[in-house]
Amino acid sequence: MLITTFVRCDIKLKTVGEGTMKINYMVAKDRFHKLFPKGAISTMHNQEEMIEKIVREIKYLTYASHVAVYLYDRWKDDFKLAKTNAEEDNLLIKHLITDGFFNKQVNKSFHSEFNIYNGQSAFHNTYEYPTFLVPLNNNNSKVGFMLIAFDEEVDDNDHFYCFLEEIASETNSLLSSLDDYSLMMEQANKYELMYSVTQKFHSTMNTNDVLTEIVNTIRYIYPEFRCNLFLSSDYQNDKNLPVKRLIYNEEFAEKLSVQAFLTGDIKLEMLKGKTRLFAPLHGKQGIYGVLQITAYDISKFPESDIEFIRLLASTAGNALENAQLYQQSNQLIADLQLINEISHNLNSNLRLTETTIFMREQFKQSFHAEEVGFVLLNEENQKYNLLDESTTFFHTPLAEDFLDDMLLIIKEKKDAIFIGDFSSKYPNRFFGLKSVMVIPMVQSCQLKGVIILLHQNPYFFSFDSFKLIKSIVHHSTLAFVNSMLREQLEKLVITDYLTGLYSRKYLDEKCKQHLEVDSKGVFLLIDIDDFKQINDTYGHDVGDELIIQVATIIRENIENKGFTARWGGEELAVYLPESSVENGLQEASDLVLMIEANTQPKITVSIGIAHWDQNNPEKMQSIFDRADRSLYEAKRLGKNGVAKI
Ligand code: GH3
Ligand code: MG
Ligand code: MG
Repeated sequence: MLITTFVRCDIKLKTVGEGTMKINYMVAKDRFHKLFPKGAISTMHNQEEMIEKIVREIKYLTYASHVAVYLYDRWKDDFKLAKTNAEEDNLLIKHLITDGFFNKQVNKSFHSEFNIYNGQSAFHNTYEYPTFLVPLNNNNSKVGFMLIAFDEEVDDNDHFYCFLEEIASETNSLLSSLDDYSLMMEQANKYELMYSVTQKFHSTMNTNDVLTEIVNTIRYIYPEFRCNLFLSSDYQNDKNLPVKRLIYNEEFAEKLSVQAFLTGDIKLEMLKGKTRLFAPLHGKQGIYGVLQITAYDISKFPESDIEFIRLLASTAGNALENAQLYQQSNQLIADLQLINEISHNLNSNLRLTETTIFMREQFKQSFHAEEVGFVLLNEENQKYNLLDESTTFFHTPLAEDFLDDMLLIIKEKKDAIFIGDFSSKYPNRFFGLKSVMVIPMVQSCQLKGVIILLHQNPYFFSFDSFKLIKSIVHHSTLAFVNSMLREQLEKLVITDYLTGLYSRKYLDEKCKQHLEVDSKGVFLLIDIDDFKQINDTYGHDVGDELIIQVATIIRENIENKGFTARWGGEELAVYLPESSVENGLQEASDLVLMIEANTQPKITVSIGIAHWDQNNPEKMQSIFDRADRSLYEAKRLGKNGVAKI
């Protein structure tokens, strides 16, 4: 495009005799063309270098004293003196022109569509010589300005102006092409980066990787800007990322971050000294957060950059969506695995103590709960029973009020309780643990008890954890209740169903009673030798039958000298009250012989003995333990015999 007009300011032209300024226009133009051939832009794309060459050349050809190029800065909406190596010239020109005033002229010239501007004191007052301002533009978008100043009067004739005009026009088209080229290169670089970022996004299923990539890209392209991410609260992010929590309640509705999040549109905010841009991280199913970019000391956010950020944010939004869906599906699988594992374990572990310990450990591990409590309710729901396996806090007096409160709410609400910050919800209750989850155990529409998980930090448990634990408790209540019933049932049963002997619990109680009133006693622990092999050889039914044979022999021999019980599996036990150790040894040896002689198929037993007397009072458990060690010794000595340690 040809510039048809100069902006001529404060020009004082004087006709000087022909030949004073010996410019051969034809030669000069030719020289200029040769130096800057059209289409040479890509090989001369160093802007600084090119401007310097142009400046030098124009000075040389026109005898101008100062030539300077001012380039448009689209971030500042202002013109900046292009840096050339001719520093002294630059300094001189700077000195020559009051910057603000100069800019005013320039903008005025643009706005008045390049009419000649004849400002009376456009330039430094003392500067008397002709000075030209040449607007440089590229299809109506500003590229910059060129200033040509003379320190003596110039040849005031049409040839000279024509020549100047042509040179200026050439310069304009050269710088326009350069501007096009550098814009194109900038765009190409950005989109190339975008391409590689997108590829990285596709190769990760990790939300933090995606977020890191967005932040790094913005920091790389706009190193002087600050970048933040606003994300919703249930986001566990890397501490190194500039992530802020997006709060979208009424109070914050005015905030642009919230508006960008809710509307899905880019929002721009010009503040004093800084400009903020909010780009929503848009996926297909929703918006996952907002990218905030803060730029300092700019007057304008160029459209092309806004567009680029919009694109980056939406690519990131899609990547975040993918990563989140992937992580959610993984989490779902892990949750199902946990439920499955717990159900499986509960069904194979029927003892209440074991069940409770197992669940306590699972809750500590999976939910990072600091305290786990198990409370069972009696039939009428009047009293509760805290299981011993509950963690320490529950056994403190502080827990009593807390449990009362929680049970009251549960009975009323008949639903689980989730408290993010106990201290703010119940400010007058002193209680160190802030995160609370209380899950009711309901079986056949009856409240059987509650499981409680606590943590000292507020908002520690996520809502997803709450949903998961509800599901786990729901699945495990049946097994839990069954264990409870079994335990209760066991307490009631005093005889063993297979042998008709006393149950272990019963013998245990009997021994304890005798220990309190008797002066001495003997405990025999009887174990069938190589019973596994018997089972393997004859089958379990024969095995069972043999246990009955052994039980019968023992019962008939002991009769009312003592109590005989099935201790468990193929182990039986006898307690002989007021029996001496000698007597005990005799009874045991008799049993060994009788069993060997009277079983069919023939089996043998080993017997371990422990005795006590009032001179050495002992707890029953330690008497049992000693009998167990004696039994071990009998086995070690070759089985089919008696031992006493
Ligand atoms: P030893 O005591 O001599 O060291 O060998 P063992 O083979 O008896 O050893 P262990 O105590 O390891 O095995 C006991 C076996 O008894 C294992 C189990 O299958 C079997 N058993 C336990 N209770 C019963 C039961 O009620 N009926 C049957 N048939 N077998 C049982
Ligand atoms: Mg055994
Ligand atoms: Mg055995």
